Amino acid sequence: MNILSKLFSRKSSDSQTPALPPLRRSYRGVEIKSEAEIEIMRRSAFIVATVLKEIADLVEPGMTTADLDAYAENRIREMGATPSFKGYHGFPASICACLNNEVVHGIPSPKKTICAGDVLKVDTGAVQNGYHGDSCITIAVGRVSPAAEDLIRAAEETLYKGIEQVKPGNTLLDIAGAIEDHAKAAGYTIVEDFTGHGVGRRLHEEPAVFNTRTDRLPNMRLKAGMTLAIEPILNAKSPHTRTLRDRWTVVTVDNGLSAQFEHTVLVTPTGYEILTDRSHITANAVGDRLSV
Ligand code: MG
Ligand code: MG
Repeated sequence: MNILSKLFSRKSSDSQTPALPPLRRSYRGVEIKSEAEIEIMRRSAFIVATVLKEIADLVEPGMTTADLDAYAENRIREMGATPSFKGYHGFPASICACLNNEVVHGIPSPKKTICAGDVLKVDTGAVQNGYHGDSCITIAVGRVSPAAEDLIRAAEETLYKGIEQVKPGNTLLDIAGAIEDHAKAAGYTIVEDFTGHGVGRRLHEEPAVFNTRTDRLPNMRLKAGMTLAIEPILNAKSPHTRTLRDRWTVVTVDNGLSAQFEHTVLVTPTGYEILTDRSHITANAVGDRLSV
């Protein structure tokens, strides 16, 4: 789930030259996690990563987004956590499920059948022992168009370009700059209506983790112990979005495709740790980890 960047917006600069975000010196509102808190977050994040990996493996044409939501809620609870999204500001489900031109906050529905060729985004969060994990993946369902495949690949690469900038002393602007440059070089636009965020005791914390060189959001140096949800959204055409009448589902204004990947990332003393990393998760690993 994303933060509406307008919540954090400041008055834009009147300058003609592209302005850079102001460097914020206060860390008020930004939680620096202790080792004990980080260990709890590792577990929440592992649960999120496990659910997303399993959904990526099991999804097939003919299922509905409500089927995926039911699976996710059951698995999150089975692993000892609570879905972060369900009830959050009234959101009715445990995952956000977005198809094709849907950008964020899609409400799962038994009427939404997943078809071969769809670009499917699944975003979910889990909280246990008071700490949240948050991650999103984009799945190519069956064989998708070469254009869709390229967008999905670029969206994942772009997330990792941002993550590579995470280390103490670097700033949020370093993350945003790497994201912006990579997405644009790949030929895509970046949605500016939503940003990433700090994550921990609350699903959405300070700071806003912006994805472009905006001057509307405060910049900040990264410190070890910060936990950030980094989540750039790439669009094939216009970066602009609109919200449907359900007051949740956000779509592209021109019906172009949209793709997103998100990880919960810890700033370590030397760089970063991707807490929602799925790459080493196997069925056995899930059993081992959760029996501890
Ligand atoms: Mg999310
Ligand atoms: Mg998020």
